[in-house]
Amino acid sequence: MVIIMKPGTREQDIHALVEKLERQEKVQVGITHGVGCSILGLVGDTVHLDIHKLEMEPNVERVMRVQEPYKKANRKFHPEDSVITAAGVPVGGGNFTVVAGPCSVESEEQIIEVARDVKQSGAAMLRGGAFKPRTSPYSFQGMGLDGLDLLLEARQDTGLPIVTEIMSPKYCEIFEEKVDLVQVGARNMQNFDLLKEVGKMSKPILLKRGLSNTYEEWIMSAEYIMAAGNENVILCERGIRTFETQTRNTLDVSAIPAIKRMSHLPVVVDPSHSGGYYWLVEPLAMAAIAAGADGLIVEVHNDPAHAKCDGQQSLTPEKFRHLMDKSAALVELMGKKLVNS
Ligand code: PEP
Ligand code: MN
Repeated sequence: MVIIMKPGTREQDIHALVEKLERQEKVQVGITHGVGCSILGLVGDTVHLDIHKLEMEPNVERVMRVQEPYKKANRKFHPEDSVITAAGVPVGGGNFTVVAGPCSVESEEQIIEVARDVKQSGAAMLRGGAFKPRTSPYSFQGMGLDGLDLLLEARQDTGLPIVTEIMSPKYCEIFEEKVDLVQVGARNMQNFDLLKEVGKMSKPILLKRGLSNTYEEWIMSAEYIMAAGNENVILCERGIRTFETQTRNTLDVSAIPAIKRMSHLPVVVDPSHSGGYYWLVEPLAMAAIAAGADGLIVEVHNDPAHAKCDGQQSLTPEKFRHLMDKSAALVELMGKKLVNS
């Protein structure tokens, strides 16, 4: 971190600030006297320092970070790709992992049928929402704990590990016991109380990008989970809000290589919520693979026209099979290994 002092600051005031920083903040400070102003270079653990507070010091002109505000998620301190494992299924580090299933669990028949289909086509994990974050309070809110139990049945039937969204810290204990990969949805990406609580879990976390969040904000949310003790975080790009209204969201393809430069955590892509239409899923998935994604999370429904949630963007099992067949060659071309269930 660099602090630029106001021109004409007295020598004794500079030394008073240096002494305060070294004593209170436990950082080492080097002083460079320039023409007209002096610059302080801070080294040590500066992530906890508040730039705005420092800028309120009477003799400080400007403060700049030279290092990112995240540590545990930072590739600088962990150059190798992280491989996160959910119930034995790896994500990241040369693996390509596909998660598939309906937006919501709707019935025993539905989830079992879809689970069997996606497994047969090569999905490595089963998704399905039991607690649904809906814009309208009048829309289907998910089956709740009953939905969770149906996911367990589907896991028992197929052997596929299950991925489902947590919306409240009050369910951490039950998710800890039952769920293999715990999803934090886009709308909760900055629910810091929830992030701190899932940070205490031993299960891996799939952290979706918020609707309008920057890369740094997203990584800082991963940092919350990691700082609380859970370093098993997978990032999921699921499209962001832009001025375009013809698609539900806009897949930020740049996020894949950009996040990989910033962080060692795996990045998977959700082409279903990104585009919002079933016919966009395959092209967006192919773009994601070509950009270096570590996997996909895809909505698949056995009867999309009658789905209780997100039918318009759900693939039929046949279309999902086509996607898996088509993507296999590209996954190989990208030097990755498709993870089988
Ligand atoms: C979902 O995965 O069904 C979901 C609600 O996703 P998102 O949080 O990305 O909107
Ligand atoms: Mn959905």
